[in-house]
Amino acid sequence: STLSSSSAASDVYKRQTINNVLAGIVSYRDMTHALRKSYFMLEEEKTRLEDRANRDPLTGLYNRGYLNTQLTYHFELAKRSGNPMSVMMLDIDHFKDVNDKYGHQCGDEVLKRTSEILSEKSRAINIVGRYGGEEFMIIGPISDYKSSQYMAERFRVMMKNEKFRCSENIFSITISIGVAVWSASFNSENDLLKLADDALYTAKRNGRNQVHIAESP
Ligand code: GH3
Ligand code: MG
Ligand code: MG
Repeated sequence: STLSSSSAASDVYKRQTINNVLAGIVSYRDMTHALRKSYFMLEEEKTRLEDRANRDPLTGLYNRGYLNTQLTYHFELAKRSGNPMSVMMLDIDHFKDVNDKYGHQCGDEVLKRTSEILSEKSRAINIVGRYGGEEFMIIGPISDYKSSQYMAERFRVMMKNEKFRCSENIFSITISIGVAVWSASFNSENDLLKLADDALYTAKRNGRNQVHIAESP
């Protein structure tokens, strides 16, 4: 019995040595473990890539494509559930002047900081994205006239009070906001978007640095 136990011990040792050299002889348990691990790593990578495809590279916010998909989804959800939702279009006032006065780099910094403010100060369920240029969209699920008005006004004041710093310049900016709130009489999400856009245009025309909420049909 002394002999068999010592040969068993050397057998284990040999196997480990062979494993170290050949790196191909593994137990079934090791193999399933390794396969499972690489499967999860691939799944993680897939999720990361899918998320990146939905985002704007400069600001990290959701991009226009993703916003449009979500707009359709939440419009349909509102139609079926009866819970209201809102769309908010936010546009930086005279943003061209920021680029002209402080440079394109500072313009980019303003876009990044604005994005931080909008996403940090937004409710977790809101979908915040960059629709294009210096224009942002916030989709508010389960958001009615009053709550979206409150939210828009909060963003307007927050942006007005923010001090932007960029290469020794300190300056303020303002934003204009157009809001449209879902009602049963909308045919499609495009009608809702059009109304929010018109409301933004009205806010601009009325003097900027203000919120305009569209009358729902
Ligand atoms: P308004 O108050 O009517 O909105 O005036 P505005 O100057 O903000 O609007 P306009 O559409 O005339 O100009 C938008 C500017 O935004 C022009 C464009 O160069 C700038 N812009 C768009 N995308 C970017 C970007 O990614 N980075 C920087 N730095 N500027 C951008
Ligand atoms: Mg603008
Ligand atoms: Mg614009």
